[in-house]
Amino acid sequence: MTDRNDELAANLAKVERRIAAACAAAGRKREEVTLIVVTKTYPASDVRLLSGLGVRHVAENRDQDAAPKAAECSDLPLSWHFVGQLQTNKVRSVVGYADVVQSVDRSRLVTALSKEAERVGRELGCLLQVALDAGERERGERGGVAPAGIEELADLVARAPGLRLDGLMTVAPLTGEYAGRQRAAFERLMDLSTDLRRAHPAANMVSAGMSADLEEAVAAGATHVRVGTAVLGVRAGLG
Ligand SMILES: *Cc1c(COP(=O)(O)O)cnc(C)c1O
Repeated sequence: MTDRNDELAANLAKVERRIAAACAAAGRKREEVTLIVVTKTYPASDVRLLSGLGVRHVAENRDQDAAPKAAECSDLPLSWHFVGQLQTNKVRSVVGYADVVQSVDRSRLVTALSKEAERVGRELGCLLQVALDAGERERGERGGVAPAGIEELADLVARAPGLRLDGLMTVAPLTGEYAGRQRAAFERLMDLSTDLRRAHPAANMVSAGMSADLEEAVAAGATHVRVGTAVLGVRAGLG
């Protein structure tokens, strides 16, 4: 346990140095970037250690794993972000613990989230997940709304009771014109964020960048980076 705490502390310090260096290189203040630690596949005991080490935002991508973990950690001062593809039949569970859903990508999901948030009397933060590998009107391989669909979906979230439109999220695409071009992908997301904020000025969160490309995301202007492997270690199997 103590060894694991030391390991997590050392990894967090390394990630912190990377974020600070990326901010300095971009002429940004360190406070402009929030670290979200992606704890998927790792146990609640790690989440507890991370909380003790000062982490305030954690993210999960599968409700089956996240729900019991969040319940075990409900005494901790953490914000929970849901970042995985979300089926409407999981919405009730996810709204039970998530503070922010970063993977909102279709109107049916907006309707379901709104209904459940209203039912339990909570306000749920929503980021639209943007698929930069999608065709004009399609959804992405790993979820996400195509850029052309952002405006309509954003208006829907903004009008939905119980939901708060917080901004945009993306995962650097593995295929299409942005494959291997993280910096260009994140800059495109920033442009889309600028467009979004014309109609929705408060929706200023930009969630981009993971362990391998957080520097590119910070350089492009991301406000939130989602880091798993670099803090917790390489995940066994799928995740
Ligand atoms: C797993 C995951 C991350 C973290 O990825 P790492 O490479 O482990 O840092 C970030 N965002 C999403 C959506 C993820 O599923």
